[in-house]
Amino acid sequence: MTVYGGIETGGTKWELAVGTAPDDVRATATVPTTTPAETIGRALGFFEREGPVAAVGIGSFGPLDSKLGSPTWGHITTTPKPGWSNTDVGPEFRRRLSVPVAFDTDVNAAALGEHRWGAAQGLDTFCYVTVGTGIGGGAMVGGRLLHGLMHPEFGHMRIPHDLAADPFPGACPYHGDCWEGLASGNALAARWGAPASELADDAVWALEARYLALGLVSVISVLSPERIVIGGGVMRRPGLLPLVRQEVVALVNGYLDVPAVGAEIATYITLPALNSRAGVLGAIALAQTA
Ligand code: ZN
Repeated sequence: MTVYGGIETGGTKWELAVGTAPDDVRATATVPTTTPAETIGRALGFFEREGPVAAVGIGSFGPLDSKLGSPTWGHITTTPKPGWSNTDVGPEFRRRLSVPVAFDTDVNAAALGEHRWGAAQGLDTFCYVTVGTGIGGGAMVGGRLLHGLMHPEFGHMRIPHDLAADPFPGACPYHGDCWEGLASGNALAARWGAPASELADDAVWALEARYLALGLVSVISVLSPERIVIGGGVMRRPGLLPLVRQEVVALVNGYLDVPAVGAEIATYITLPALNSRAGVLGAIALAQTA
């Protein structure tokens, strides 16, 4: 039986899997993100041991080039991560494993995984948002993953920031107080001086829910998603998601007369059904399109 390789590249680690579906994962591994040569070498070794695979799907941190036919297709481009800008990732796996490779953002891959097997089954326009060390977002529109100019970068949209109420200047090295700069795990840690997992004050989470909701309302307004699947480490904070839903409903203020932004908000803004495996399983789904 044909099996596929999936890779979710992250800033601190790469998740690798071989399989065909969530209930048919044959092997997994985690390798730390160090230098490109070392990390890619270890991932290649895993697929050589556990394969052969028919194709590889890569859901990557970015920004990246996923445009087929582009001379730099399959490269991570302008990432601030030291040592990783302009890194050839997709073509390297294609050369070394001699199989087709599909390359997309980690969040587009996760969106595809949730569409195939998770919380977005049967929908054709929805988005996947992750709130972890950074904030990312991917989307399917009309049944296709959204690319356009490059790919969506939800985390870098601008949201209202009342400096009198929250003087924190923001944590994004490019923009300061963009969405990620105000509401990511890194931003929480920088604003409050402790990791997000150690922050217990209600005021911390009320502000966080407000910022997350401000971004989501913009996403709803622009993309008209049929559902928002939202994951990432920060969203595992007990009680945060219900607060975010409340804030979204309050901000929309009755303008969108649909149950999704009212009585059905709890199914409209929902956690990933594949949990933390959405990215790597999505990469397997991506491989199946290669
Ligand atoms: Zn930014």
